[in-house]
Amino acid sequence: MDTHSPLGPDALKALDGRHHLHPFTDTKALAAEGGARLIVRGEGVWLTDADGQRILDGMAGLWCVNVGYGRAELAEAAHRQLLDLSFYHGFFKTTTEPVARLAGKLAELAPPGLSRAFFANSGSEANDTIVRMVRHYWNLKGRPGKKAFISRTHGYHGTTMASTSLGGIGVMHGQGDLPLPGFHHVMPPYAFDLARGLDPEAFGRLAARAVEEKILELGPENVAAFIGEPIQGAGGVIIPPDSYWPEINRICREHDILLIADEVICGFGRLGHWFGSQRYGIEPDFMTLAKGITSGYLPLSAVMVGDRVAETLIEEGGEFYHGFTYSGHPVPCAVALANIDLIERETLVERVRTDIGPYLRRRFEEALEGHPLVGEIRSEGLIGAIEIVKDRRTRERWPGDGKVGLMARDHCFRNNVIMRGIRDSLVFAPPLTLSHAEADEMVARARLSLDQTA
Ligand code: PLP
Repeated sequence: MDTHSPLGPDALKALDGRHHLHPFTDTKALAAEGGARLIVRGEGVWLTDADGQRILDGMAGLWCVNVGYGRAELAEAAHRQLLDLSFYHGFFKTTTEPVARLAGKLAELAPPGLSRAFFANSGSEANDTIVRMVRHYWNLKGRPGKKAFISRTHGYHGTTMASTSLGGIGVMHGQGDLPLPGFHHVMPPYAFDLARGLDPEAFGRLAARAVEEKILELGPENVAAFIGEPIQGAGGVIIPPDSYWPEINRICREHDILLIADEVICGFGRLGHWFGSQRYGIEPDFMTLAKGITSGYLPLSAVMVGDRVAETLIEEGGEFYHGFTYSGHPVPCAVALANIDLIERETLVERVRTDIGPYLRRRFEEALEGHPLVGEIRSEGLIGAIEIVKDRRTRERWPGDGKVGLMARDHCFRNNVIMRGIRDSLVFAPPLTLSHAEADEMVARARLSLDQTA
């Protein structure tokens, strides 16, 4: 336990149980289980709880701690910036050094033609910002009919009203009367569930054409933009066939639809490239960045705006009446610069692509070869999923609508490895610094957890 704390673990857990409303949590069920586990330390890929148990974090927090926990360089960057200039903003006529440097660095790393950054605090806010920018853009272009957004079932784009509407997760729409009008969803490129014998590339094109069919149904003159994660993360790590994104590029170009790549999970090395757009050849008009931008050390997000849109917004738009108090807060921006510097110095992007990504995949394949519960192992870089089935030959699912994924996740939790249960899959996205020995340990604990699942 942290000796600076005047309260012991039991007192803290009791306070939490009485007063903290946890995000994405069934509070009643949590109380019935005895409350939340108290995490007190993080180092590398390891967390420590208040009982001194060490937990291997196979999810990098919430897909965000790319450089691992406890990196002194990031803490020092925050400390220095807090002493130099704890806060100033970019409204009206001022800027600060970390913000200017970070905007320049992001423009350098991003695919060509995305050279402007707008800062916010979270992925949700960044996507909300894009919704406003897109509609403002089409109004400025004299095409005010272009208002509709198209996205995918199982897509996740955040939890504000607009970003939940962009997302395609039914249980979220069920709370708050969503989606808002003008938000439409089409099938995802989820081969395991939907390919039905088609070869992957043919299936990728078919899934992309679902976007085109929706555009034609709504009328291209009414469609503003399409948004997608290069790999759908929180919807179950849905990895598209290579044919999918080039076809999406073509469709958006042909129908004059803006293309938004939500890189909140895929960015900053997760796929073995700086951005998922580079892995799949996506040609976006916007990129949404968050999470790995600071490795989760402080909240920060950015909207990268393509030159064609930026030029219209700047030349014809006048003042854009939009911005958060902490748009371009200097402290997280300083941390982001230190984080990017660390990723570059430790060549983590290349390491994911050529070393630890393929290694972890191979170890999972070896350890789970022939496992009766495993219908598929898929991964790209350091993100992946294990599909859990009742019958590996027929791919019959377990009854209970996703309960088996939660069961597997809970066994992992008890075995001190963190993985996510999403519907019928067990999902992983560890820090990019994961060593080979830690990968072996992660796989062994996941295998044990699956053995206990059924
Ligand atoms: N977009 C994607 C692809 C995400 O995975 C997330 C969060 O998981 C978000 C947006 C929302 O980001 P935030 O939770 O920072 O609002």
